[in-house]
Amino acid sequence: MIVEEIDLRSDTVTLPKPQMMEAIANATLGDDIMGEDITVNELERKAADLLGMEDAMLVLSGTMANQIAIMGFSTRGQEIILGSESHIYNLEGAAISALSQVQARPIHVENGYFDPELVESSIFRGDIQRAKTALISLENTYNLNLGQIVTLENMKEIQEVAKQYGLPVYLDGARIFNASVELGVQPSVLCKYVDAAQFCLTKGLGCPLGSILVGTKEFIEKAKINRQRLGGGMRQAGIIAAPGIYALENMIDRLKEDNDKAKQLAEKLSSIEGLFINLNDVQTNIISVTILQSEMDADKLINDLKEKRIKVKKIGSKKIRIIVHYLISDDQIDYVVSTFRELLEGKR
Ligand SMILES: *Cc1c(COP(=O)(O)O)cnc(C)c1O
Repeated sequence: MIVEEIDLRSDTVTLPKPQMMEAIANATLGDDIMGEDITVNELERKAADLLGMEDAMLVLSGTMANQIAIMGFSTRGQEIILGSESHIYNLEGAAISALSQVQARPIHVENGYFDPELVESSIFRGDIQRAKTALISLENTYNLNLGQIVTLENMKEIQEVAKQYGLPVYLDGARIFNASVELGVQPSVLCKYVDAAQFCLTKGLGCPLGSILVGTKEFIEKAKINRQRLGGGMRQAGIIAAPGIYALENMIDRLKEDNDKAKQLAEKLSSIEGLFINLNDVQTNIISVTILQSEMDADKLINDLKEKRIKVKKIGSKKIRIIVHYLISDDQIDYVVSTFRELLEGKR
């Protein structure tokens, strides 16, 4: 049987749909640094409304959105509270120190819960020795190897702590819509408890490029200056915005299918001898799989799977990660399960 490649390494591998390529071809373009790309303006308006924020700004990547946000909320020598497994802390090239010249105060986040007491005890008002806390940075869904949901109640608790100390709260919402569809709430509800947020167009939404940063008018004005400083000001950026508009209109609600498929896949895989999955951890479209078999490890499993045209990501010597996205069909899920079973159980 010839099978097409099944790429489960990330939802960033999603390719733009034909409709997105069509939207690019038909987009009306202008100079965005001059504010004249009406396709960009339309996407930014739509995104701001969707997240219930005053204004929005298109940037090239989630990393750029996060770093511009931190530049806006901090000054040199301050401290940012964030999750120890967050993207900002782990996967952005130490940009908070390289660009904003602030340091991280990472805290442990158990099962997507930002403990308000732990957050509060991590806040410093600044003195001769202690760096002043500038910002509390949340992530929802949390942990790119787990995709856990931070609940509305928890976000509210953190906002209350922040208010007490006059601190802003930021949300890295790279996969915010995987959380909102799962919670059954409008995305704007998740932004009620934060001062600014970003989401990625390039993950489950399937766009080729781009992230959106949202916040107050004043915050976005300042963000545009910092985007320019990073060389992120763009000209005919409507070619990025056009698929973004398509995605906001057509790709959000269907993320529930990815979450559901991930849960089904996790359940089936967890019944295979030699694999362990904590099913409580599978809350959205991400699955962390631990290999228990002594004769199998991540490298070998990944190689064996590759021969069967399945790609997964290594996240530890005995751990792999699977992310479900819109290109993965039900038939492919079945094929993935039977292939895992064959590789792990068949040889014994
Ligand atoms: C992917 C991701 C980012 C960064 O997005 P890029 O566009 O790859 O820079 C930031 N935060 C989280 C939680 C992510 O998953």
